[in-house]
Amino acid sequence: MVRNLDCIIVGGGLGGLTAALALGKAGYKVTLLEQSEKIEPIGYGIQIGPNIFPIFKEFGIDQEILQKAHLPSALQLVDANTAEMIGNIPLGDRFRARFKYPYICIHRADFHMILLDACARSNNIELRKGVTVTGYGQVGDRAIARTEYHGDIEGDIVIGADGINSRLREQMHPQSKLQPVGYVAHRTIIPFDQVPDIIRQDPVIMWAGDGYHVIYYPMPNNIGMNFVLVMGGESEEPATGHEARRAQILKRCTNGHPEMLAVLKLMDFTSRWKLADRKPLKGWSDGRTVLLGDAVHATFQSLAQGACMAIEDAVVLADCLGNSGEDVSAAFMTYEKLRRARTARVQLESRDLWTVYHVGGADVESRNTQFLNRTPDDFYDCMDWIWTEVEW
Ligand SMILES: Cc1cc2nc3c(=O)[nH]c(=O)nc-3n(C[C@H](O)[C@H](O)[C@H](O)COP(=O)(O)OP(=O)(O)OC[C@H]3O[C@@H](n4cnc5c(N)ncnc54)[C@H](O)[C@@H]3O)c2cc1C
Repeated sequence: MVRNLDCIIVGGGLGGLTAALALGKAGYKVTLLEQSEKIEPIGYGIQIGPNIFPIFKEFGIDQEILQKAHLPSALQLVDANTAEMIGNIPLGDRFRARFKYPYICIHRADFHMILLDACARSNNIELRKGVTVTGYGQVGDRAIARTEYHGDIEGDIVIGADGINSRLREQMHPQSKLQPVGYVAHRTIIPFDQVPDIIRQDPVIMWAGDGYHVIYYPMPNNIGMNFVLVMGGESEEPATGHEARRAQILKRCTNGHPEMLAVLKLMDFTSRWKLADRKPLKGWSDGRTVLLGDAVHATFQSLAQGACMAIEDAVVLADCLGNSGEDVSAAFMTYEKLRRARTARVQLESRDLWTVYHVGGADVESRNTQFLNRTPDDFYDCMDWIWTEVEW
């Protein structure tokens, strides 16, 4: 182990907090810098694959996570125009026998709070809120996080976990640009008593339409149903405000099945998030600064693995540092080597799936036939490379 390693983490998202836990557990001193005055996530649901469950166990937070989680019975893909179920991935006993751990849905705020509480229990971790990092530097073998109003903060290494618009990545790779696709996401949580029974179902259900998809699942502990609409067509003049957006969206989906339209009618369209990914990137570190999570491999949501990849990065990075003696750059090289192919595959397959989910016209039949021919085991085989626990 590198003794007394002093680690600066930039960003208190799911990746940064997991890195803090992993490094703190290894005995390193951690200072986490988060730009927000309050470390709080956008308050919607998130799906978590079985691949990162062993990490929760390692940190002793698996039971807390399970208490706050919904364990859906299946992932179901439905044709948005005909309501035909074209794909069904059971997540019960058969899934558990193969992948060992559950597939869960959890409120991001609950997930974040569990990680924050675990950080607070560690004497090695200091969380500093309201600190915006503007870039990184290095003097001799000291790494520096440059901040807006708090001067330079020094450590042995700086970890950029500052998300899709990472300033650290911008400095390291100014040529790496966001790849927008002209899609936006709308998210809503609706109390159960306002959701008709036909929609209030246990599985994660995704309706795939021409240029859009709708996904929903129940949240545990009476939180309500979590709905996400992802829609393309940004070239169209975007409407503003809930009512105008709703009218525009319903017009775009006139061929949609009445049940799917009923889902859209429940949603609140006041807020929206532009979606983008990046091309896989080589060179995740520069001297004593290294990147993780969305900062280095932002992806579309098609495989619901962006946060999972950030969390895996965090534990692998901590492990590489632990195994590298005094040699930080060797640790960073090994970390990138262990992580790049897997995260690049998530990015590339997510882009491909994005196209498949959103086909229209004659392509719909071909897409549906491909999915309809798959058994649960075929789906498990397709997802095996992601859902099998990662070794670190
Ligand atoms: C609609 C939608 C649905 C999704 N669903 C899923 C899902 O079901 N499953 C899944 O695994 N993933 C999902 N994702 C992806 C997931 O949200 C991200 O991949 C994940 O949050 C990335 O974590 P991160 O820690 O790398 O970055 P972030 O979560 O973006 O955290 C970055 C943190 O850094 C802070 N920060 C930024 N800049 C600075 C700065 N200059 N100085 C200091 N602090 C800074 C930010 O405030 C933030 O707290 C979804 C994404 C979207 C948009």
